[in-house]
Amino acid sequence: MSHKGVIEQYRKFLPVGDKTPVVTLLEGDTPLIPSKCLSELTGLEVFLKYEGLNPTGSFKDRGMTMAISKALEDKAKVVICASTGNTSASASAYAARAGMKSVVLIPEGNIALGKLAQAMIHNAQVIAIKGNFDQALTLVKEISQKYPIVLVNSVNPFRIEGQKTASFEICDNLGDAPDFHAIPVGNAGNITAYWKGYKEYFENKSSRKLPKMLGFQAADSAPIVYDKIIDKPETIATAIRIGNPASWKQAVAARDESGGLIDIVTDEEIIEAYKMLAKYDGVFVEPASAASVAGVIKLRKKEYFKGKKGRIVCTLTGHGLKDPNIAIKNVSQPVSVEAKLKDLLDVIGL
Ligand SMILES: *Cc1c(COP(=O)(O)O)cnc(C)c1O
Repeated sequence: MSHKGVIEQYRKFLPVGDKTPVVTLLEGDTPLIPSKCLSELTGLEVFLKYEGLNPTGSFKDRGMTMAISKALEDKAKVVICASTGNTSASASAYAARAGMKSVVLIPEGNIALGKLAQAMIHNAQVIAIKGNFDQALTLVKEISQKYPIVLVNSVNPFRIEGQKTASFEICDNLGDAPDFHAIPVGNAGNITAYWKGYKEYFENKSSRKLPKMLGFQAADSAPIVYDKIIDKPETIATAIRIGNPASWKQAVAARDESGGLIDIVTDEEIIEAYKMLAKYDGVFVEPASAASVAGVIKLRKKEYFKGKKGRIVCTLTGHGLKDPNIAIKNVSQPVSVEAKLKDLLDVIGL
């Protein structure tokens, strides 16, 4: 049976009814790719949940199909969000599909080019805030409380509901939950959603175990790890450049209930993992996505996996083409030669 999007696929686990108009771009059903290099490195079986292959290039689409469908059910005409980029790309696409207006607030100067292009081409009203994500989120929350505009950030509970379907897919794919689940943590909606999904599948007897949740924040944007709000978060991984996560408490609960951890990874470790995934596994992600893999590499250096067996799943949250400038900055540039066979052969080394 062909895939009809995450709402149809997992309808019985989602708060939708017969009258809910389903707004979908056939998100979900993303590949779970075995990682050769990470399996060799850790001695465990490592899989990459490649969420960059969703319709707008990130996992946000899983939550957005729910948020926009429910907004349409409530006859909303306008949706709003604050975004480091991918939420706005997804919200604007799904709003376009539903015939709604979308308004997106982005932190000025700190959004990847691809994401900005997406919001603009989908006809969102894009407003750059002279401030960071956390300030933008405070503003959109206030607007949505006072005006008839639906907030589609992950504080909207339907977002979490949709995003939990990634856990279901992983369990369906592997025949059970993995032993460890590594994931980047920004606003912390996704780690919350995955843990909720794993628990619901377990309670439904669709899986027989629960994974330990391993969350990773960028070193200078790690409020949960340091247990304090970071006023000026910094990292090359703009999608997780967040100093006061909306789902902070839920992320801590996911960590503690699962017996997992939330740790930091430096920008250098993120870029190393980013390049490794592209070079050895053929998988191109955006920098924030590589935080999960950087975290697994860090834990293996600390011998966290020593003597352990089983499976690790790393969520790769978004596609590398979102942020091509970062890729180009971190590799050697193309060489230029005369259009002559001999010159070319010299360069290739033949
Ligand atoms: C949104 C996003 C994250 C962070 O997810 P949270 O739910 O905010 O923790 C990580 N990576 C990418 C690519 C994202 O778009």
